[in-house]
Amino acid sequence: MLSVKEAQEKVLSCPVKHKIKKVPLLESLGLALAENMMSEDFIPTYDNSAMDGFAVKAVDIIGADKNYPIKLKLIRQDLPAGKIPEIKLESGYCVRIMTGAPIPEGSDCVVMKEDAIKEGKDVLIFRECRQGENVRYKGEDIKKGDITIKKGKKIFPGDIGVMASIGRSEVLVNFPPTVGILATGSELVEIHEKLEIGKVRDSNSYSLSAQIKEAGACSKRYGIVRDDKEILKKKIRETLSDCDILLLTGGVSVGDYDFVKEILGELDAEFIFWRVNQRPGKPMAFLTYKDKFIFALPGNPVSVMVCFELYVRPIIKKIMGDKKLFRDTITARASSDFKHREGRTDFIRVKIEKVEDKTYFKSTGMQGSGILMSMSEADGLAVFPEEIGNIEKNTEIQVYILKD
Ligand code: AMP
Ligand code: MG
Repeated sequence: MLSVKEAQEKVLSCPVKHKIKKVPLLESLGLALAENMMSEDFIPTYDNSAMDGFAVKAVDIIGADKNYPIKLKLIRQDLPAGKIPEIKLESGYCVRIMTGAPIPEGSDCVVMKEDAIKEGKDVLIFRECRQGENVRYKGEDIKKGDITIKKGKKIFPGDIGVMASIGRSEVLVNFPPTVGILATGSELVEIHEKLEIGKVRDSNSYSLSAQIKEAGACSKRYGIVRDDKEILKKKIRETLSDCDILLLTGGVSVGDYDFVKEILGELDAEFIFWRVNQRPGKPMAFLTYKDKFIFALPGNPVSVMVCFELYVRPIIKKIMGDKKLFRDTITARASSDFKHREGRTDFIRVKIEKVEDKTYFKSTGMQGSGILMSMSEADGLAVFPEEIGNIEKNTEIQVYILKD
C-alpha cells in the first residue's frame, strides 16, 4: 500500500492542463496571471501636483520662513485636477493648483496650502521648497513598456489596481478547474429531506463543494446515484465530459472496490492507485481519464474531507498555476498522550492552543471517520507519521492548518 507521501507524489506527477482564459479584470483576483502585463502608458502620464497648494519656482522662495515670508503674485487662474494648464509660470508668480493637476510649464515645485496665505492679489509663502517637492513625475510609478506584473504571479488587490491604472479591463489567467461531485449510496437523501431509519443526508456533496470553493475552484454537484452499476456507469460517463476533475464519494471500500474499479475500467480510465496507508481515508482510488482526473473517495464524511485536503486540493492548485500547493503547517506539542499505531499515517483533528510561548495541539474529540463534529471544531490536522508509535505528551508534531 502506498504511503501518504508516495500517493501525493503520484497525484502531483501527473501532467496538468492549464485552462488559459480571458476574464474581466475583477474576476482575476486570486488567480495566476497567464500573461506578462505590459504597460502601454506612463503612469502618471504627466508631472502633477501631489498636494493642494501653489505651483511656484523653487528659486523664488529660497529662505522663506515663518518669520520671513516671501511674497509672490498670484495668477488669476486656478489649476484644478483634469485641467490642462495654459499658462507659463514666470519668476515672481505663483498659481493655485489642486492635487492631481498637471504642473504648469515654468514651475518646479508645489507649496502646500498650509504653508501659504493669500493676501489680496498676492500670496505669502512661509516655507521654502525643494525642486520637485510635492511633484509626482511622469512615469515615476510605471514606465511605458514596463512589465508591471509577471506571468504566473497570483493576483492580489494591489495588482488589480495596477492593471486598472494601465487600462486593462480583461486579463488572461489560469482559470480554475471545474470539479464535479457525484455522491453514491442507496442510503443517501438530499439535505432538505427528513431522515428515516437507514437514511443518511448527503453531507459529502456539501463539505466537498465548500472545500472546492475555498480552494478557489468551481464546484458542480451531480447529485446522488444509487448503488446500481448501470446507472452509476451512465452517470459517470455523462459527468466526465462536463468537468475537469470528478470526485466520487462512497462505494470504494473493500467490498465495493471492484464495483467502482470495474465501472471506471470499462470507461477506459487509467488506474493510478487504490488505498493509501493512512487513517482516515484509506480506501480511496485515483485515476486519470484523458486529461481529466478522477478521485474515488471514501464515503465517510471525515475521510472524504481529509482525502480532499491531501490529494485533491494540491492538484487543483497545480492546475490553477498556484505556486503554493500545500497548506501551511506548524510544529505543535501534544497536550496529552495519544495512542498511535506505528506503520500508518494518522490525521488527528485538533485545536491549536498557545500557552505562554509554546504551541500545543489538543484533540477535538472522537476521531471516528463519521464524526463530523470533531472536524467542524478542528483548526488543523495533526500528522502522526508512520515511523513512530504512541505519541507522548509534549512530542512535537506537524499540524496542517485548515483555518487562518
Ligand atoms: P461507503 O464508502 O459507501 O461504504 O460509505 C461509508 C459511510 O459513509 C457509510 O456510513 C455511508 O452512509 C456514509 N456516506 C457515504 N456517502 C455519504 C455522503 N454523500 N454523505 C454523508 N455520508 C455518506
Ligand atoms: Mg456506500
